[in-house]
Amino acid sequence: MFDRPCTRDRNLENCTCTYEPCARKGMCCECIQYHWQSKELPACLFPSEVEKTFDRSLSTFIRVWRERGY
Ligand code: SF4
Repeated sequence: MFDRPCTRDRNLENCTCTYEPCARKGMCCECIQYHWQSKELPACLFPSEVEKTFDRSLSTFIRVWRERGY
């Protein structure tokens, strides 16, 4: 079994999610699993102005980054 300490505190330093409260903050593994169940992505993958809308859908992710030339 893989033995590695949780890095939640360090992850929290980089978490850009503005949704309060959420018990998954800093728990990136849980965050991804939670959102992907609904074909959504974590807050940190969206530009900040889009993140604030709480629309975490895959279609919005693709649209906004395509509009930015990626
Ligand atoms: S992106 Fe979603 S699951 Fe992750 S911390 Fe924000 S609200 Fe919670």
